[in-house]
Amino acid sequence: MNKKQMRGAMFLEPGKIEVQEVNIPEIKENEVLVKVKYCGICGTDMHIYNGVYSKDKLPLIAGHEFSGTIEAVGKNVNRFKGGEKVVADINFSCGTCFYCRQDQPLMCEQMEQLGIHIDGAFAEYVAIPEHMIYEIPDEMDFKDAALLEPISCVVRSAKKYNIKFAESVVIIGDGAIALIHVQMAKICGAAPIIVVGLDDKRMEKAKELGTDYVIKSGEGMYDEVKSLTEGRGGDVVIESVGLPVTYEQTFKLVRPGGRIVAFGLAKEDCMVGYKPFEVIIKELSMVGTVAGAKNDLAESITLVKHNRFNLEDYKTTVVQLEDIAQAFERLKTDRSVLKILVDME
Ligand SMILES: [Zn+2]
Ligand SMILES: [Zn+2]
Repeated sequence: MNKKQMRGAMFLEPGKIEVQEVNIPEIKENEVLVKVKYCGICGTDMHIYNGVYSKDKLPLIAGHEFSGTIEAVGKNVNRFKGGEKVVADINFSCGTCFYCRQDQPLMCEQMEQLGIHIDGAFAEYVAIPEHMIYEIPDEMDFKDAALLEPISCVVRSAKKYNIKFAESVVIIGDGAIALIHVQMAKICGAAPIIVVGLDDKRMEKAKELGTDYVIKSGEGMYDEVKSLTEGRGGDVVIESVGLPVTYEQTFKLVRPGGRIVAFGLAKEDCMVGYKPFEVIIKELSMVGTVAGAKNDLAESITLVKHNRFNLEDYKTTVVQLEDIAQAFERLKTDRSVLKILVDME
């Protein structure tokens, strides 16, 4: 490769993105250079854009939901030659600290997430350690592949809350990821699947994608959920919004003995009130889940390869890198689009 420079979307400060000519990352001996094909815009990117997350890392090239092909390999890379279609586990961990030894790489003391802590994939090229690379099947669409990272987050959460078939799942939220939770719950055999949301069109979409009942968020929802679950409440309640009010709702929507899943990224200083008495008496449990790592990604590849997710509506809006700033502005208010993919070519 003769090129030394590439285009990358630099997040300069909250609310300000500029597409710049920057140096192509130099790969180390154990790294590969990936030519990015598509990179999706996710809620986390919006949080970075809005200055509520990872603000101390700016200026930064964001972007972590990507697919591409291997362009070049470092001296010590054996597994790849170049030309392979790939995605990556974006959670770069050290592999040797206490947490890595416990197989909890997301808690790694030196964890760096691509596009969140270090420069990411809203750029033509990105450098990735060989062991974080996952090859995708030849026949897999690059757009589908760009959705594997968010899917892996949902796959991980499903494993953490350990859903069993015929359990009821209540999902709070009607966003892009909430509708992946719907599909995941369906894969796991959950019944019924209930979505509590606000937007009529999204609720329609939720139904198309396998939701049994959609309920408008509001005071009436507690009774509605109870009546759909034989008077008990959800076996599992997934918060996929990230607001204090919706986190508080989880305690009222879950059945005695049920599980609450903390998924929607709340602001760092967000506080929520709950009654310890109720948690004790009802033996409630809550599990947090932050990303998808390692096998979560491999399993996502298998599920997508075998068409277990309907991703059509996530692939309809594609913008060029030059238009990325407008795309972020659009996502602030436009709920008609589930996902925007940025085309890097
Ligand atoms: Zn994401
Ligand atoms: Zn570590």
